[in-house]
Amino acid sequence: MIKVEELRKSFGKLEVLHNISTEIRKGDVVAIIGPSGSGKSTFLRCLNLLEVPTEGHIYIDGEDITAPKANIMQIRQKIGMVFQHFHLFPHMTVLQNLTYAPMKVKKLSKEAAEQKAMELLTRVGLADKADVYPSKLSGGQKQRVAIARSLAMEPEIMLFDEPTSALDPEMVKEVLEVMKSLATTGMTMAIVTHEMGFAREVADRIFFLDGGRLVEEAEPAQFFTKPASERAQQFLEKML
Ligand code: ADP
Ligand code: MG
Repeated sequence: MIKVEELRKSFGKLEVLHNISTEIRKGDVVAIIGPSGSGKSTFLRCLNLLEVPTEGHIYIDGEDITAPKANIMQIRQKIGMVFQHFHLFPHMTVLQNLTYAPMKVKKLSKEAAEQKAMELLTRVGLADKADVYPSKLSGGQKQRVAIARSLAMEPEIMLFDEPTSALDPEMVKEVLEVMKSLATTGMTMAIVTHEMGFAREVADRIFFLDGGRLVEEAEPAQFFTKPASERAQQFLEKML
């Protein structure tokens, strides 16, 4: 579903992603882990062109999204993204947060958009918050709304950049549970996370980034018991 070929990304003279090639298959859940500054966010952001790759190609469903002619708006519709800091629209209710893009971009009727939104809010356990403004929600609730809002656009791929890092510890679990249940629906997911237990349990594959390189790609059982690289070993010793 996603094919990355010799991806490089520089900011000015600083190259932060060095020649990354990999694939993510349809339905795969990939956990992207690695030290701070290793390029995890930049890699994820390249996948939906929030960052424009300096070199290389990224194919989504066989389409080269890095080609000059690529339709960025259309590509982004296929890919949902959830950030550390929610980015909900503060002046809209929870329901409006979910219906806005489907009505505006997908031209859904208000009724259809609201019906879909209520289904999604039910799925993340927040149907009773439909008419509330984001400021009245806890961090965990905000993040669940952000996930539901992304899903309202019916993406084929979901990207998560440290979705639980800004949350109080007691709220991490409710968000991970929502992601876990999404994974069971067959959604293709790439998740930057420091939640090693979650990565081990839910991911099909681990990408370990260090210093802008994809140092290791492995199945969780393999990675967490016998990482191939010394750098991954050192990283895990600090994390676990
Ligand atoms: P991670 O998410 O693994 O912490 P990032 O992808 O955020 O790492 O950053 C990788 C490197 O790229 C870091 O050295 C960071 O300072 C640099 N970087 C990220 N975004 C920018 C930017 N917009 N401009 C310049 N440097 C950046
Ligand atoms: Mg980051």
